[in-house]
Amino acid sequence: MMDEYGTQYTQDNNDIKYMSLAIEQAKKSIPAEKAYCVGACLVSKDGELLTTGFSRELPGNTHAEQCALLKLQDPNLASGGTMYTTMEPCSTRLSGNIPCVQNIINANITRVVMGVREPPNLVQCEGVQLLEQHGIQVFIVPGVQEECLAPNKHILH
Ligand SMILES: [Zn+2]
Repeated sequence: MMDEYGTQYTQDNNDIKYMSLAIEQAKKSIPAEKAYCVGACLVSKDGELLTTGFSRELPGNTHAEQCALLKLQDPNLASGGTMYTTMEPCSTRLSGNIPCVQNIINANITRVVMGVREPPNLVQCEGVQLLEQHGIQVFIVPGVQEECLAPNKHILH
């Protein structure tokens, strides 16, 4: 099964469990003007939960996936792992910040499981496309779209 853009749905119980955790993280994010509230968690290739993150958890205009990666004690742990994120990882960022897609590629993450595509309200995101071009598998969890968009009412009028 695929979504309307051709991204594969996952029915895996662990994927569903970790997406719930990512959604809980997203709810911790304090809304900011022109920035989404996203949650993430990072799981090792052996299926071990490594870190979590949410938008602006760490100082600066940090993103959820970025926080999860920054909180790793050993950056090599992410290699071969899965990044769970409530929203499609960003493909462009302003003011010299590295897009989450690039951070994910740099960390040798091989799988991304997301809740929703990034809505087109702020920028046109090409996250899925770029990840797939780099051989990273991308999956979407069915039925969580509303929960993932709920913390973003300040942008999605
Ligand atoms: Zn990002």
